[in-house]
Amino acid sequence: MKKIAILGSTGSIGTQALDVIRHNRDKYKVTALSCARSLDLLRSQIREFEPLFVSVASEEDARQLSREFRDIVFFCGDDGLTEIASMKESDMVLNSLMGMRGLEPTLAAIEAGKDIAFANKETLVTGGELVMDAVAANGVKLLPVDSEHSAIFQCLQGNKDNKIKRIILTASGGPFRGYSLEQLSEVTLEQALAHPNWSMGDKITIDSATMLNKGLEVIEAKWLFDVPLDKIQVVVHPQSVLHSAVEFEDCSVIGQMGNPDMRVPIAYAFSYPERLDLSDTVESLDLFALDEGLTFHKPDTEVFRTVKMAYEACEKGGSYPVVLNGANEVLVDLFLRNKIKFIDIQNTLEKLLWEHDPVYNMTLEQILEEDHKIRELTIKTIEEMV
Ligand code: MN
Repeated sequence: MKKIAILGSTGSIGTQALDVIRHNRDKYKVTALSCARSLDLLRSQIREFEPLFVSVASEEDARQLSREFRDIVFFCGDDGLTEIASMKESDMVLNSLMGMRGLEPTLAAIEAGKDIAFANKETLVTGGELVMDAVAANGVKLLPVDSEHSAIFQCLQGNKDNKIKRIILTASGGPFRGYSLEQLSEVTLEQALAHPNWSMGDKITIDSATMLNKGLEVIEAKWLFDVPLDKIQVVVHPQSVLHSAVEFEDCSVIGQMGNPDMRVPIAYAFSYPERLDLSDTVESLDLFALDEGLTFHKPDTEVFRTVKMAYEACEKGGSYPVVLNGANEVLVDLFLRNKIKFIDIQNTLEKLLWEHDPVYNMTLEQILEEDHKIRELTIKTIEEMV
């Protein structure tokens, strides 16, 4: 029995992870759940999975819930996340938090010796070096749940001593693939939230539409697989069937394919190095249904400038990726609340990224401080704009 704590249990990854566990009760036990605000869904998850510990955002909610569920210990806030990430009752932590608030709980879990099923790219974008150093120092596994990174990880199995020539990181291109800059200036929130292939949380769906999601994934891949940026190639593949691929020095390209269903990479992270039987849960890939073919295109970096921004921010290092991520978290939130236009995200990111005073060789405290500073500056910049 593997005992798993789930950070972010009511989000898209969290609910799909619980579905994997629901179908494999003999293999997995939920020790802890955390959610910010979706309390009704949380209540039903508590009843179904009977965790020992639960963390929520506010103290008031924690108090209310502990009156309803007397056998469960409740925590709240960022401390609560760190608490349930590091408790001795779990073997593994699924980090499906949204945003870089997952950094501290991730470090706490690693230091407590937990393997991590990892679905929180912002944490590696901002604290990649700290996290990978902690992983090495504590001998734990960081198992990617992001579909592309799970694909790459799967392609690398059995190739420990073989050099990676190139990572082919596929991107759907999002709902605005093929748009001109003018068209991109007119798009609505509703259109941006309608992702063609994947059903995901709001933040990542908007990141997919701006294509910064792919930029963040380039940085995530660099840290996870220890490859230089010039060996990571972004390829637009609108069908989302090839989830990513690795080319080795003999020019063999090994890819991982399947219907786009996040339960596959979640299950692989849970069961690694074995594979679960998901035949009753996930639809098999029908190649004959793909009679329109699989297509591959260069990303349009003139219209979607975010991918290039991510490469450059990562190349420069230090606070650049922290600024890119922190500003983006704020801008996406503003866009989701209809406060700014879609195109403002990319334009403001560009401005903030290149105008900030960089800091290098940052400690955790400095990363958190730079993140805090850029969030305030982003809000100020937007206020001055309107
Ligand atoms: Mn992804």
